[in-house]
Amino acid sequence: MTSGTILLVEDEPSIASLVRAYLERDSYKVIWASNGADALAALDRHQIRMVILDIGLPDIDGFEVCRRIRRRSQVPILMLTARDEEPDRVAGLELGADDYISKPFSPRELVARMKAVMRRVEPQPIDAKVTLGDVVLDRSAREVTVAGELVDLRSKEFDLLAFLMDNHGLVVSRDQLLDRVWGLEFAAGTRTVDVHVAQVRAKLGRPELIRTIRGSGYKAVAG
Ligand code: CA
Repeated sequence: MTSGTILLVEDEPSIASLVRAYLERDSYKVIWASNGADALAALDRHQIRMVILDIGLPDIDGFEVCRRIRRRSQVPILMLTARDEEPDRVAGLELGADDYISKPFSPRELVARMKAVMRRVEPQPIDAKVTLGDVVLDRSAREVTVAGELVDLRSKEFDLLAFLMDNHGLVVSRDQLLDRVWGLEFAAGTRTVDVHVAQVRAKLGRPELIRTIRGSGYKAVAG
């Protein structure tokens, strides 16, 4: 399962490979273009979900790439600005970029920003709600109900339950959960996962919903 294809336009290999590795971990497919011409060619050849666009490029600059993309496509564009340069940000947004992020940024920050842009510009999927037994998780409202009663989950608890419910019937390892829910927060360990699972079970009052699979991880089941 892929989260979509991201066109990464960045001429610095060190930044590009870091971002690429992080996006691939998050199940995005990444096409890397190191200059504007390659970026525009890639846009014609592939179904792109989002463009991450650096301003400083060796041929045409990111602003010009943005302008040319907008002549042919409404694909979301997130610009990378070298510093916290107000004129760069304003210019990018005026040319039709959807958002920007200033270098240096952490990959986690970048992915969070990308997702926020996608949520804003893409229509909500019909399956924003996942149901398992009498537990309903509403991703767009970030709400969970059990038998119609709202349950108060913290952010990480919600994300953990969402991932388990999306993969219901499948065993999900603690490492996968760490990766998907905690990302690069290295302080989190597998013990954190166990603690959060226990909290979610207790709050839902449906201990049978999340099964412990000995030696493997967890599995959400309808009961
Ligand atoms: Ca650059």
